[in-house]
Parts: sequence; C-alpha cells; structure tokens
Amino acid sequence: MQPQATATKLLDNYIGGKWTPVDASNELDVTNPASGELLARVPLSSATDLDAAVKAARAALPAWRDVSVIQRARHLFALREGLEARREEMARSVTAEMGKTIADSRAEVGRMIEMVEAACAIPTTMQGRVIEDVSRGVDCETIRQPVGVCAGIAPFNFPAMVPFWFLPFAIGCGNAFILKPSEQVPMTQQIAFEVLDGLDLPPGVVNLVNGGREVVESILEHPDIDAVSFVGSAPVARLVYEGAARTGKRVQALGGAKNHLVVMPDADMDQTVDALMGSAYGSAGERCMAISVAVAVGDETADDLVARLKPRVASLKVGAYDQEGVEMGPLVTGAHRDKVKGYVDLGVEEGAALVVDGRGTTVADHEDGFFVGGCLFDKVTTDMRIYKEEIFGPVLSIVRAKDYEEALQMVNDHEFGNGAAIFTRDGDAARNFTSRVNIGMVGANVPIPVPTAYYSFG
Ligand code: NAD
Repeated sequence: MQPQATATKLLDNYIGGKWTPVDASNELDVTNPASGELLARVPLSSATDLDAAVKAARAALPAWRDVSVIQRARHLFALREGLEARREEMARSVTAEMGKTIADSRAEVGRMIEMVEAACAIPTTMQGRVIEDVSRGVDCETIRQPVGVCAGIAPFNFPAMVPFWFLPFAIGCGNAFILKPSEQVPMTQQIAFEVLDGLDLPPGVVNLVNGGREVVESILEHPDIDAVSFVGSAPVARLVYEGAARTGKRVQALGGAKNHLVVMPDADMDQTVDALMGSAYGSAGERCMAISVAVAVGDETADDLVARLKPRVASLKVGAYDQEGVEMGPLVTGAHRDKVKGYVDLGVEEGAALVVDGRGTTVADHEDGFFVGGCLFDKVTTDMRIYKEEIFGPVLSIVRAKDYEEALQMVNDHEFGNGAAIFTRDGDAARNFTSRVNIGMVGANVPIPVPTAYYSFG
C-alpha cells in the first residue's frame, strides 16, 4: 500500500503492477486551493517514464484480452467494492486538492463509482449483432474487440470522475490502460490506484503516469498506443485530436464549453433562479456543464431575473471546501483565480453591467485561498469576449433576446456548447428547443443536462 501523501511527498507513478518512483528533474507543487498549503509534489514524468508504462501495458495485453469477459467484469465488481470502502476518503481528497465543496466532492465520487457500476454490465454492453442469411447460407456478425493499449488524459475539475469515464470501460473491454491525471490534482487517483493495486489484476493492465505536457506529447507520438481519450480545454483538445490522428490512433477529445440557459417569459421563475444558482455557481463554475449564459427572452423577463438573482448571488456562502454548508469553494489555483478576475475586469471594460462583483471576496482565516465570490453581469452582448470565451469561474452573464427565435439563434451560433437548457412551462417551446438546438446534451427545465453513466457524454 502507498503511504498517504505528506506535505513534502513526491508522488509515484504506478507501472506494471508496482508503485514506481520517478526520477523527474521537474516537479510541481500540489496546493490546497482554500489555504495555499502544500499538499504534495507531483513529478512531471518524461517520455521514458511513459514508454515504461506502454511496455508494461503492451506486455499485459495478450493475456488480458483472453480473460473471459465475465472474469473481467468480476474485477470491476471488486473495484467497485474497493472504491466504495474508500468513498469518503476520496471525497476529502477531491475537496482538498481541487477546492469544490465537500457536498460536491461526495457527489463526484458517487458518479465515479457509478461509472464502474455501469462498466460491470460489460458482458451485455460488449455484445455484437448478427444477422442470419445476408446471402443464402451466409451469416454476418459484428463483434466488439479490444482496441489495444489505450491512454486517458484528464482535466483538473473532476479529479475522481473523469479518469473513470475511461478506465473501467477500457479494461472491461479487454484493453490495457494508461492514465495521465491532471498534474494540478493528482492525489485522488493515487487512492484509486491503491484500490486497483489491491485487486488481483495482472500487472500492466492499469498504469498511472503523472505529469503534464511532455507526457501528453509522448502519448500522441508513441507508436505503441492505439487509442487516446482526452477531456480538457478546447485548444488542447484540438492539439490532441490532430496529434493522435496524425500517428494513426483512434481518438476522442472533449473540449471546453459555454453553456446557455434560455429563460422564456412563462418560466417558473423560482425554479429558474434555483437552477441558475446551482448550475452557474456550483463548483465555483469550474464545470464543463456549468451554465455561464442565461438568455432572457424579453426585457421584462430579464429585469425580473436580474432582480431575483442579485440578492442570491451577493449572499452566496463562500468558504473553505470542507466546511459543511458552504455553497462555493475557491478556484483551483492562484493563476486560475487571476484569470477569472481578469475576465470580470474585461467585462466591465467591454461595457457589460456588473450587478454583483465578487472580485474582492475574502474568507476569514483563509486569506491565502484562491477565492472569487459570485459575479453577475447583465446586458452582455454577443460581440463581447466575456460572452464568446470560456471563463470557467463563478461568473454568470445575462444576455437579452427580443424573442425565442433570437435566443435559439444565439445558442446555435456560439462556437462552444456542451449542453443547453430551456426553462418554460410551454410544452411546444420545450419540444421545439430540444429538437432545433444544435447542442449535444439538452435539458428542458433541467439546468445541467448531464446524462447518467450508461449514456454517452457529449
Ligand atoms: P487543460 O486542457 O489545461 O488540461 C487537460 C489535460 O491536458 C491535463 O492533463 C494537462 O496536463 C494537459 N495539457 C494542458 N496543456 C497542455 C498542452 N499545451 N499540451 C499537452 N497537454 C496539455 O484543461 P484543464 O484546465 O485541466 O480543465 C478545464 C477544461 O476542461 C475546461 O475547458 C473545461 O470546459 C474542460 N472540460 C471539458 C469536459 C467535457 O466533457 N467536454 C469535461 C471536463 C472539463
């Protein structure tokens, strides 16, 4: 078992079934965003470290893909039990390294475990299709086979869940897997890999390589990696998509977001405001499915919305991640806090009306934490950079549309869109929106339309 990280502990990789120290010339501090306290140090692994993981994965692959599918599923059941036993410890780790509230972290770890539960159904979900007599006496069948050695690259905002969008499905299908977690939040995956280490998985089936850009670039270039899954910001998603395709890998790359919520004049305003508070400010806006733009249809709707939101945003309880009852924690790093504050400065310069200004928010006894209070802009227009770009912080923009068609057009014209929602009591409007909006995940009176583990995300 890996000892718990202490203040100066340099984290290890996990390669070929063994915790493997990294002889890294570069290391990064992992800090607690609520206090700036040093939690651990993460090595920035090199191409050589990555290569060791690829060799271990490649060596494990032939025997692993021959393990029966039900036996692979049994490993996943065991993984589920192991994670369940350390559920609260992982939630506390997420909260300590990433800063979201303990309630949010518990929910995230719940989602992580749901991924494994969904993957436990792999004997069913891997089934192919067959048709008899495509031609006389000839049957045709589709079978699902492992791709080979797969790598997953994760962002900072879901230290527990996003790596598990990849891992249980990859190994359940008979692949060997290499995870590169975000170097900003590497600690929760140390716990997950302690659990994996305690199973009797063959060495090399799962591997953990800590690091940053160099590991990603080595993954893209490595000739012995067959497939790459990436989740992170849009510019890096593009780089990964192009780089992995160039070296002939299968690749899925999910990028950044700007998500709209259209408020119709007939919406239940209490419900809409509750939804916006949770979806715009939950997890300090550091969610790829956060609503960052509310499009109010008609000035009356907008005025009512702003009047109701203003006191709620101004009184958001901002505090240290692990205090029960706190509604919003800090941003992940000082650099990210400065970036978010910079966007609020920019919005003021661009002429948007700053209704609630959270830039000066401080938290008693946590003066070194990376806090920004809730910010609310009204009268944001589509030519402003605060509208066009992803801010990824607790900043909600209200845009005013003259009618439903203009609102819909705005959503469809935006470069980004992971999800979108409409709030209305009119079934026709809800049906029209869900059908015509050009976005992957859509909600009617549901603010963050995130599908459950057994549906695809995106
Ligand atoms: P990021 O793109 O900075 O980092 C993601 C990963 O890429 C990390 O593992 C990092 O080490 C690596 N990386 C960063 N810069 C790199 C570079 N220049 N070259 C190679 N690799 C690089 O993203 P982040 O800040 O960690 O996460 C937040 C972003 O992720 C937001 O944009 C958010 O919308 C997005 N996100 C998207 C989804 C989705 O499902 N679409 C889900 C969660 C987060």
